Amino acid sequence: MSIKQIFITIIAIVALMGGCAYALEGSNRSSVEAPEAVVAMTFDPQVTVLPDPVAKGDYMAACYNMVGQKPGDLAYALELGWKVVCSKSGDPMLSGEGDVRTLGYADSEVKVITLDALSVTYNTIAHEAAHVVDYEALAEVSRIKMAKKYDAVSWDDASMYWNYPSEMFAENRARCLGFAFDDTFGEMSCDDIELLIEQGSDKDSIKSMQRTLTDVEP
Ligand SMILES: [Zn+2]
Repeated sequence: MSIKQIFITIIAIVALMGGCAYALEGSNRSSVEAPEAVVAMTFDPQVTVLPDPVAKGDYMAACYNMVGQKPGDLAYALELGWKVVCSKSGDPMLSGEGDVRTLGYADSEVKVITLDALSVTYNTIAHEAAHVVDYEALAEVSRIKMAKKYDAVSWDDASMYWNYPSEMFAENRARCLGFAFDDTFGEMSCDDIELLIEQGSDKDSIKSMQRTLTDVEP
């Protein structure tokens, strides 16, 4: 073989290998991958094989994979029967709540966390899961006291959305578990977060199921 022939042969082999790997991956993932037309995928808590988060840049698969790591209090939320939905970006944030810039939404009426699949991060998931802890386990008297401490009108009201104690609790609960903090939100101390959970109705389950950033990304 000439140098040119060897070169072409190598290219052909590499291309062939790449094609095979691609086909194999496709067949492995077909049971969990969202078809193109799917705009939302509900996480199956029983799932044992998570989709490859980076394959083909499939952000629905990436979202599903992140949910599967159960960051923050997500295992607790799933245990209580909450559903988690990865939604394709651009949909008017599902169920009419929020808008296209909404990263996630925890709806206590229907017990569903909806995530914008394109922009979702562990922090967003941990933030939304912390709202579940709030809805399900915090004591009203503790909420009222904490709202006073942080000079808010009430647990769900303040001059700015970012300073709603409920929002500060969610973002700072995620922060205290090691996830990235969006400093647009007001800061609530980790001691106060702990106190709220301690005074709530389900501290043992919450603490045994919580997953820090280190647990999620060892
Ligand atoms: Zn929130």
